[in-house]
Amino acid sequence: MEFSFMYKEGGAHPDEQKGFTDSKPIIDASVPKLMAYPIAMHIGAPAAPIVEVGDQVKVGQMIAKEGGFVSAHVYSSVSGEVVAIEKRAQAGGGEVDSIIVKNDYAYTRAEPIVKPGYSSETSNKEIIDTIRKAGIVGMGGASFPAAVKLAPPEEAKIDTIILNGAECEPYSTSDHRVMLEYTDEIIKGIDIVSQLYPDLKNIYIGIEDNKKDVKEVLEKATAANKKVAVQTLKAMYPQGSEKNLIKSLTGREVQPGELPADVHVILLNVSSARAVYHACELGEPLIERVISVSGAPVKNPQNLKVRIGTPMESVIDDCEGFSEIPGKVLSGGPMMGGAVGDLSVPISKGMTAISVLTRKEAQIEEPENCIMCSECLHVCPVSLQPILISEAFERGDIEKAEKLGAMDCIECGNCSFICPSKIPLLENIRGAKAAIQARQEG
Ligand code: SF4
Ligand code: SF4
Repeated sequence: MEFSFMYKEGGAHPDEQKGFTDSKPIIDASVPKLMAYPIAMHIGAPAAPIVEVGDQVKVGQMIAKEGGFVSAHVYSSVSGEVVAIEKRAQAGGGEVDSIIVKNDYAYTRAEPIVKPGYSSETSNKEIIDTIRKAGIVGMGGASFPAAVKLAPPEEAKIDTIILNGAECEPYSTSDHRVMLEYTDEIIKGIDIVSQLYPDLKNIYIGIEDNKKDVKEVLEKATAANKKVAVQTLKAMYPQGSEKNLIKSLTGREVQPGELPADVHVILLNVSSARAVYHACELGEPLIERVISVSGAPVKNPQNLKVRIGTPMESVIDDCEGFSEIPGKVLSGGPMMGGAVGDLSVPISKGMTAISVLTRKEAQIEEPENCIMCSECLHVCPVSLQPILISEAFERGDIEKAEKLGAMDCIECGNCSFICPSKIPLLENIRGAKAAIQARQEG
């Protein structure tokens, strides 16, 4: 794809491509006959299946139990019969054990995970337990279990919550629509999370300046809460990355190896905040999310509310399919998203978008020699030297790649996109990270 960069140090401005879907209201996606639930759609240990082939399950019934402290439960989003537990393709590449449920279209509901009706009397432990029980993960793409993230050690003295509404990936508009259409649920989710931190002083809602309609709606909805400030940020990629957002809104810097809690901040994606409301107030586990399906080859791009486990092909059918053979189908946006070769891949908890590129946009140009222009250094939001890490990886010098801070790369893709020589910097850095991790694990 073509990028018109107006970058400054540590950021870039790719073509937003939001116009396909940013004004399209969220609609309900179809629910197909067969749903697939990967047991590892989160960071951390995979969940362990607790159902067997032949079992009947209900909507909102747990079908796989968290596999450790950093893990997340998996729930069925339809009622029906478990017809297989087998390896299936997943969005991140490769195959993962998945529970296949044949939808009976009765939508029989399981008991709520907790008694509905959150109140300010609900204890912090109960809130965290409910978030854990609901299987909530970071829904902006990170997929880190929310119960772990929201419960840092007491000495972290969290004084700031940042609600991340800076949806900076091109094409993606799901968070934009969620903020417009589920405003009250997001605010109630934030109210619940606020209760966890006795030292809380500020709640910043960070949105980019290309979402003026959202700013108005959020300001109106939060007018009574003096701790809340809706902050507009320059639309720039990757404005929504944790470190960038914290720096932009609080001036605090998260150092390599540190977490946001180390600078007294908790970040939460807008859809995750909505999921917290659904869990604590309604007793509902995480079984649905909103995604955008966008790109020139999509006949009727849409924002859709999709049950987790729905295959991508069903969601694309809801958008009337393709008008031309696509060059690439991505899970997520074009900067960080991964190409998907098999459209049976199910929608997972952290999948924000399906972005479809034309063959021309997806064309990979032959890399040429580095011309030492330094552009990759200028656009790196975490101040790395991408070309040096890439070269170290190509030489097989993994120690050097590690010393250069490869593990701090947030995989935003800025360096690859800006490089006039089309050197696959991100690909090489990902390779370096995998090699470093393998070495660390012995
Ligand atoms: S992909 Fe990594 S190295 Fe490249 S610009 Fe982004 S953070 Fe920097
Ligand atoms: S942007 Fe590309 S050509 Fe320029 S220094 Fe980096 S790797 Fe070399």
